[in-house]
Order: sequence, then structure tokens, then C-alpha cells
Amino acid sequence: MLGPKCRICRREGTKLFLKGDRCYTTKCEIVKRKYPPGIHGQKGYPKMTGYGIQLREKQKIKRFYNISERQLKNYFNKAKKKTGNTEIDLIRMLETRLDSVVFNAGFGTSRYGVRQMINHGHVTVNKRKVSIPSFKVRVNNVIALKSNTKLTKKVQEALTGSVASKERRERCVPWLLIDETKPEIKVIKLPGAEDLPKDFNTKLVVEFYSR
Ligand code: SF4
Repeated sequence: MLGPKCRICRREGTKLFLKGDRCYTTKCEIVKRKYPPGIHGQKGYPKMTGYGIQLREKQKIKRFYNISERQLKNYFNKAKKKTGNTEIDLIRMLETRLDSVVFNAGFGTSRYGVRQMINHGHVTVNKRKVSIPSFKVRVNNVIALKSNTKLTKKVQEALTGSVASKERRERCVPWLLIDETKPEIKVIKLPGAEDLPKDFNTKLVVEFYSR
């Protein structure tokens, strides 16, 4: 993702929690300047049509999960092919990505940090290194860290001292068993509709891609 992260939140007019603990303080840019970035920003957010509203909701999801347009479209196409509710299936796919699981368990304070941890090969699934953030976790997968004293210490610090990490763990995730001492995550079931975050209006995103 290019550009300063707070600018992305200001563009979307909502907190997307891209900067870890800072997002929970009064230093958050959305708290200080709730208007769009740019020289005409202070005029406020423009009035939007139906299409505009759908587009912005789609952009919010894409930016929150830090994925490309192509990836989101692929998730939508897969969700559409399933027999269940497309809105729920779409969010379930995003939440069962390895980076989402590690982030939701509070092993890092921001999604970016977690993704870097995975990219650099520090995360294992069932004792095998997995360096693909989009890896889809399955029931009974055990997600852990490779032994690395410096990293383990950093993760322990996030688990014990970070507001962002605590907030993630509390909001979610009855489908994950988090052992903060090891630290380790076990996937005990796939998330049901009631376990999924309600931050976005996925109906608008489905409408956007179904046009
Ligand atoms: Fe967004 Fe966090 Fe920046 Fe606030 S501090 S604008 S929530 S990235």
C-alpha cells in the first residue's frame, strides 16, 4: 500500500487501525482532522451517490485487510461460487488468512508488522514455515513462531502491553485458542457469522462487484 497510512483513513473518513497503538490515542489523525486530505479537504466529505457509497466501502475493506484489488475480486468470485451467503463467505475468507489470524490473536500491533513477520519466515503452521500472508488456515492448524528470542520478546510485549493487541483479542475470536505463554494459536473451528467482525457493510461490496 502506498502513501501515509493516516491519509488513507482520512480519505475513507473512518478509523482503519493501520498504525497499532497510535490509533487508540488522541494522536490519531481522524480525531484531529476529520476531513479528506488534499487542498480542498476542509470542504468536507462530498455527498455520494449509490455507486460512490459502494465504491468507498469496497476501498475500506481492501485497505483494512491491506490486499490488492485483484485479491479482493478473487475472494469475491470464490465467495459467489459457494452455496452460502456471499457476504459472510467473503469476510470469512479474509478473516481466515494467516495474517488476519496472527493479527487478531494480538501477536503484533499492526497488520503491517504481522505481515512482515510472516514474509520473513518467522511463522509456522503445524511446525512448517509458511511465509505467505494469504495462506488459508484450517481447523486444527497450530500457528506458532519460529524460535527467535528477539521476536518472541517483541510478541510477548505486544500481548502484554499493547492496547491495540488487547483490543483485537477481545473483539474476536472464539474460534481461535490463543496460548499467550508459548505464544501459539490453535484454530478450533471456522468462524461462524456471529464470530465475524461487523466493521464493514459487506452487502455494499457484494453489490459493487455484482453490477
Ligand atoms: Fe488511521 Fe490509526 Fe492513523 Fe488514526 S492513527 S488515522 S486510525 S492509521
